[in-house]
Amino acid sequence: RGEMTVGELAKLLHKDASEVIKKLLFLGVMATINQEVDLETIQLIADEFKVEVDLKLPVSEDPFEETEEKDEEADLQERPAVVTIMGHVDHGKTTLLDAIRKTNVTSAEAGGITQHIGAYQVEYNNKKVTFLDTPGHEAFTLMRSRGAQVTDITIIVVAADDGVMPQTVEAISHAKAANCPIIVAVNKVDKPEANPDRVKQELTEYELVPEEWGGDTIFVNVSAKQGMGLDELLEMILLVSEVNEYKANPDKRARGTVIEAELDKGRGPVVRILVQHGTLKVGDAFVAGTCFGRVRAMVNDRGRRLKEAGPSTPVEITGLTDVPQAGDPFMAFEDERKARSIAEKRATTYRQSQLGANTRVTLDDLFKHI
Ligand code: GDP
Ligand code: MG
Repeated sequence: RGEMTVGELAKLLHKDASEVIKKLLFLGVMATINQEVDLETIQLIADEFKVEVDLKLPVSEDPFEETEEKDEEADLQERPAVVTIMGHVDHGKTTLLDAIRKTNVTSAEAGGITQHIGAYQVEYNNKKVTFLDTPGHEAFTLMRSRGAQVTDITIIVVAADDGVMPQTVEAISHAKAANCPIIVAVNKVDKPEANPDRVKQELTEYELVPEEWGGDTIFVNVSAKQGMGLDELLEMILLVSEVNEYKANPDKRARGTVIEAELDKGRGPVVRILVQHGTLKVGDAFVAGTCFGRVRAMVNDRGRRLKEAGPSTPVEITGLTDVPQAGDPFMAFEDERKARSIAEKRATTYRQSQLGANTRVTLDDLFKHI
């Protein structure tokens, strides 16, 4: 399911095909000039050459931009960091996500039934942290190509018995391109053949140098399986959050990003979103991508019904008329009529920009040089 060949991509980027092939090799992909590359690879190569891939509505034409209420510095309040875990297959991403989730449930939420809503929240030292649990790479590529920046911090998991692998390198490229602080979790340190120092050594090649070696990258040794090192990992996440002071204005109409969406047999379109600005309330009219609706019901990752959700809160909502796509932006409006008209406006503009992008000749439209 290629999008274009290596040769075409090189032309588009105004580079020599050999340069693109070299970058691909660096990312662990062997390719020839006629080989087709998919969207994810295009994105990575574009990142390497510092060219932005752009599949979203031009900002100037997005009705969301003109309708968002602007923030004053004084309106901004601290919000939980949003964390993505990435790394090579089988290095322990799922196990780590599960382990973190189990060990740090807020007392108020204890006993709730775990819901898969694409993200969850834990509380540690009285601070909340939001973890995205959608497959890291996919979510990242899709959301970024749609212009959504949802992640504040990336945790790169590297198995201490396996070391740096192609998807580790990819994950690093993603995080760097998104300007996302990286914390390295060296996993599986319980294994007799684990060699955390080798992982550190290998990562220096990618400019991830631990503090004890004179660098500024945070490394934490963990065993997701035995629950070792999770406290330190969470402490480091809170440290990075504190340094970066993640903030948002909770007192306005909600704006955020669709993490997942599907059509449920019984409930109709179900959408899982991350609220990033403002507060979403039950009954709010809203637009997600080019779909609109009204928040009928809202639940959190513990299956608890919520009346409202503030910045960095992941929620599952019903009440849409159609199914949006992951990475679509989301915004609440004062009434359903307004929401419908904004959704229609977005649909028209989007259709027009898609028309232009459909043919090979105008693929150039997809790329915007920084
Ligand atoms: P993912 O593909 O990155 O999501 O990896 P998984 O979480 O599915 O883990 C892959 C395998 O490694 C599973 O068999 C896990 O039980 C195992 N695993 C994960 N973390 C650890 C760990 O800390 N120690 C050991 N010994 N095994 C682990
Ligand atoms: Mg997994």
